[in-house]
Amino acid sequence: MGEAVYPVPAQWAANALVDEARYFEMYRQSVEDPEGFWAEHGKRLDWIRPFTKVKNTSFHEADFGIRWFEDGTLNLSANCLDRHLATRGDQVAILWEPDGLDEPHRAITYRELHEDVCRFANLLKSRGVKRGERVTIYLPMVPEAAVAMLACARIGAIHSIVFAGFSPDALAGRIIDCDSRIVLTADEGLRGGRKVPLKANVDEALQQCPGVDSVIVLRRTGASVNVVEGRDVDWATGIAAQSVECAPEEMGAEDPLFILYTSGSTGKPKGVLHTTGGYSVWASMTHQYVFDYRPGQIYWCAADIGWVTGHSYVVYGPLMNGATTVMFEGVPNFPDPSRFWQVVDKFQVEIFYGAPTALRALMREGDEWVTKTSRQSLRLLGSVGEPINPEAWEWYHKVVGDSRCPIVDTWWQTETGAAMITPLPGATPLKPGSASRPFFGVKPALVDNDGTFLEGATDGCLVITDSWPGQMRTVWGDHERFFQTYFSTFKGLYFTGDGCRRDEDGYHWITGRIDDVINVSGHRMGTAEIESALVAHAKVAEAAVVGMPHDIKGQGIYAFVTCNAEVQPDEALRKELIQWVRHEIGPIATPDVIQFAPGLPKTRSGKIMRRILRKIGENDVSNLGDTSTLADPSVVDNLLANRPQLA
Ligand code: ATP
Ligand code: MG
Repeated sequence: MGEAVYPVPAQWAANALVDEARYFEMYRQSVEDPEGFWAEHGKRLDWIRPFTKVKNTSFHEADFGIRWFEDGTLNLSANCLDRHLATRGDQVAILWEPDGLDEPHRAITYRELHEDVCRFANLLKSRGVKRGERVTIYLPMVPEAAVAMLACARIGAIHSIVFAGFSPDALAGRIIDCDSRIVLTADEGLRGGRKVPLKANVDEALQQCPGVDSVIVLRRTGASVNVVEGRDVDWATGIAAQSVECAPEEMGAEDPLFILYTSGSTGKPKGVLHTTGGYSVWASMTHQYVFDYRPGQIYWCAADIGWVTGHSYVVYGPLMNGATTVMFEGVPNFPDPSRFWQVVDKFQVEIFYGAPTALRALMREGDEWVTKTSRQSLRLLGSVGEPINPEAWEWYHKVVGDSRCPIVDTWWQTETGAAMITPLPGATPLKPGSASRPFFGVKPALVDNDGTFLEGATDGCLVITDSWPGQMRTVWGDHERFFQTYFSTFKGLYFTGDGCRRDEDGYHWITGRIDDVINVSGHRMGTAEIESALVAHAKVAEAAVVGMPHDIKGQGIYAFVTCNAEVQPDEALRKELIQWVRHEIGPIATPDVIQFAPGLPKTRSGKIMRRILRKIGENDVSNLGDTSTLADPSVVDNLLANRPQLA
C-alpha cells in the first residue's frame, strides 16, 4: 500500500495539544499505569459523586467483567449542557443545515438546547418513561434528535436509535429486541430531496409491537399522518406545557446509557450496550485529542446519528467539549456534489469528519465540484467507517484539503464507543491508508489463527489486550453472545473481527474483515489491498473484492467494480484492470472475475456488505442472510441480474 509519508506540519507540531514526544509519553503512562492515567483523565467530567475506583476489568471467563469508575455518579446531559451554561450559554451548540437549499439553517445555543432538552425530558416523564427504560428514536438528522438523546440521558432512560432509513421490519425487530414501549419519530424525513414516510413506517412496524403505547411525532414536513388516539402525541403540543427545568438524574457510572445496533456488515446486527461513565470519558477525550479540539471551533462530523459515529462525534463528544457541532440533514450529492464544501464555506467549518464511501462517491464526480468552493476555513480532516483507499486519501488531502490539512483516519467500532487507532494531528506523521497508532490506553496486538502473539512487522488478526473506558459492556439481552462474540475466539483478548498489518514503524493498516480474507493458492490476502489497487485506476470509483471457489487455486478473486461517472465499462477496460492489479500487487492478486456494477451493496452507514457479494461469488444466492441493514436492495437485484457467465 501507499509508500508516502506526510510529516506533521510545523505549525501543527508547535500548537497542537500533543506533539509526538508528548504522545509517546502519555501513551506510555496510559498503558503502564492505567489506574493513575484514568484517575487523572476521568476528572475531565463533572461527577456528582467522584469515583474512588478506576478500573475493574477482566477478559477471562472465570472473572469476566468490565467496570470503569464504578462508584462514581454523574449525568451525561449535565456534562453536555449544564456545565457550559455559565461560561458559554450563548454560544451556538448545534448548527443545523437542512436537506434542501430552500429552508433556513438553525443555530441553537447551549442555553436554548438546555431548555429544549429539559422540556422534552419532562414530556418523556409525563408519558411514564422511567430510568432504565428503553426509548426508541427513529428520527431524521434534525436538532430534535439530539434533544431526544440528551433528554433520555437526563432522566436515565436508555436510548436506542434506529437509522431513519430502515424499513418497518428492521425497526420492529429493534423495538422488540430491546423491549421498548415508546417511539420518537417524525411525520416524514427529508433526504436528498426525497420524502421518507417515517410515521407510516412506525405505524406499520408497530403492528408487530403491541407493547408500544406511546409515539411522539415531530412535525418535519407537515404531511398529514395517521394519528392513533391515546398513543400518538404531537411533539410541539406535548412540550408546550412542560417546564424548562428538569433536574438531571444521578446515574451510576455503570448504568446503561444507550443501545445501538451495529451496522450489520458481517451478520445480524448486535445490540451494543454502552454505559455512562466510561463512555463519556472516552467520547469526550478522543474528540478533544483526535481533532485537537478547542472550544468554540466550528466542527462538523457528517455521520448520521443512526450509527455510533453520530452518537460520539456529532452529539456527545463535541457537546461535552463545548463545541459548535454542525448537524446536516441531507446527503453529499444533493442538490449537487458541491454540497459538503458549500456547507463548509457557509459555516466556516474548521474540522470536517466524513466517511470513505462519501469521499469515493464525490471523487467519482470530478474535482470541479470541490475546487469551485473556497474551503479556506478547513484545518483538519477525518475519516471513519472503512479503510480509506490511499487513492481516496490522496484526493481528500490534495483536492479537499488543498494539501494543507492533516487527515485523521480513525479506526474504531460501535463496540469500542469511540476512536481507538488514529493519528493525532500534531503528533503523527501520516501514511495514506493507515490508521497509524493507538490512542491513549489502547493496547492493540496481532495474533495468528491460534491466538499466538505476532511480533514486529506482520499481518494478523487485530485484538485488544486490555479494556479501555469506552468499551461496550454487553450485547443487550444476551450477555453470553457478548462473551462468545468478542472474548472466546482468543482467550483473554478482545477480538475485533478485523485483519490488520503492522509495519516497521508500528503503524496499523486494516486489511479488511477476517471473514473476508481470501486464500489464493495458499496466500492469504485481505480485501482492502486489492480494492485499493483497483480504486487507484483512473477510471475506477469504487471496488469490492471477495473470494470465489476455484478448482486449482482453492479460492479465486471476484471483483465488483464501479466506474467513474463518465466511464462506459467494456471488455477492454476489464482486461486493462486485470493487468493493472497484476502490476500493482503481483500476479497472485490477479482477479479471476470482474463484474462492473453501477453500485455496490452497502449498509445504511455506507459500508460495503461483502458477505452478500461473497454469496454471489460463491454462486449461492438462494439465501443472502440478514439484509435488514441493506441501504438499497435494488443494487443486489442488479448484481444478480448481471452476473458474468463463469467458465
Ligand atoms: P457488524 O459488526 O454488524 O458486522 P460493522 O462492523 O460494519 O457491522 P460498525 O461498528 O459500524 O459495524 O463498524 C466497525 C468496523 O468498521 C470496524 O470493525 C472496521 O472493519 C471498519 N472500520 C471503521 N473505521 C475504520 C477505519 N478507519 N479503517 C478501517 N476500517 C474501519
Ligand atoms: Mg463489526
